[in-house]
Amino acid sequence: METVFLRYRLEQAEFGLESLKEGANLEEAQALEVFEKLVPIGKQDIRSRFPEGVLTKDTQDGRTYRSTSGTSGERLTVVTNFARRESGRASALHVLEVATGKSLGMSITDIPPNVCNSICGLEGPPETSILRHIWKGISRRNWSSEKFRTDLNGLFERRLMYKQDILAPLDARSPSDLAKQLKNTWGLMDSGRPYLLRAFPQYLLWLSEFQAKRSEGCGYLKYVMPYGGLACDSLMSRVRGSLGVETRNVYGTSELGSVAVSCGNHRSMHVIESLFEVEIFRGGQRVEDGTVGEVVITDLTNLSMPLIRYKVGDVGRIVPGVCPCGRSTKRLEVLGRVQETLVQGQRWVTAWEVAEIAYSDRGVSNCRLDQISSSHFELQVVPSLLDVSPGLESLRFQMLGLLSAEGTESTKLSLRVLPFIQPEQNGKYLTCRLRPNARVQ
Ligand SMILES: [Zn+2]
Repeated sequence: METVFLRYRLEQAEFGLESLKEGANLEEAQALEVFEKLVPIGKQDIRSRFPEGVLTKDTQDGRTYRSTSGTSGERLTVVTNFARRESGRASALHVLEVATGKSLGMSITDIPPNVCNSICGLEGPPETSILRHIWKGISRRNWSSEKFRTDLNGLFERRLMYKQDILAPLDARSPSDLAKQLKNTWGLMDSGRPYLLRAFPQYLLWLSEFQAKRSEGCGYLKYVMPYGGLACDSLMSRVRGSLGVETRNVYGTSELGSVAVSCGNHRSMHVIESLFEVEIFRGGQRVEDGTVGEVVITDLTNLSMPLIRYKVGDVGRIVPGVCPCGRSTKRLEVLGRVQETLVQGQRWVTAWEVAEIAYSDRGVSNCRLDQISSSHFELQVVPSLLDVSPGLESLRFQMLGLLSAEGTESTKLSLRVLPFIQPEQNGKYLTCRLRPNARVQ
């Protein structure tokens, strides 16, 4: 009731505002009734009303602002208070604990997809030791400043709690240069000896292919966690095969933090239900478990800037049934970005399905499907770093099977083998995209 935008949403839902009093506590049933009427909203809806329309009168101190990455057109700033940031820390620890059985003290190496890595919650002070930082604070007499304390806090978290190393993103603009970077990255990992490696999925595949060729082992590495992009089953199975590790799927965004994590080598993830409500929508309606649709999330702890039924921009489904591990939470599968989903009549072809076919071929180390018109596609593949060639005819056959919607005109698929694929502005790779100037109804 305190935010202009939420009042507007309630009015749009034709909910009798007069029955709600500002500051009044609702009964659970009544609160659910209100919730169920709210239509999901997207980044644009929030951004256009920021800040006056979306902030509450929350006066708790320590509000901070955090922007998501992405091009300026899709950036979203989210405001959180101290308590919300503590829940964020708790969910990050919970994810590590479910994934690896440990939450603190293990050594972690991160390779985020872009230099501005605030998206993964990794931004911190410049690398230095804790003692040196304290010494500097005393000698420069700035130890009582806010900056000194937040830097110390960050250093404590990274150097002692997580023993975290952050390595530079990989850039594949030429195969020989990529090989040099991979050699260098493995060298740094061999000296840091991480127990857990978290990295952009594409990097994990390259690192594992490179590992298969080199003689040194990486027995120190036990767990691998893809983040920042889509990791399909076939890609992760290749990573497990080459590195001899366990893989854990994790889902989170910069505006929400860690939302879900897998308990084994599979794609479905346990939702942290004490912090988030996750629903799936399609055509404005919530769908049954098992149906693929847009992921809609409600943040249950952000009281500074409520995100209620917020469309994150991802496609996924809720997995029906109970997990063999015994946890009884909702389980989520994420299948790609909304913008990467191809709508073929009634059917959604997800980026996950495209990637799954491409990476099942051991000769493929990167791929992208460009849509050129409603029925014309181009599949670009980059050959593996190993001496395996992509099986182009099989790829064409399987991809055509996926893309051909029943009852539509015949689908045309061109194939191109490229030395590398140019990443997007934010350093990430898209699995599917509409080619600029594409003609699609
Ligand atoms: Zn489980």
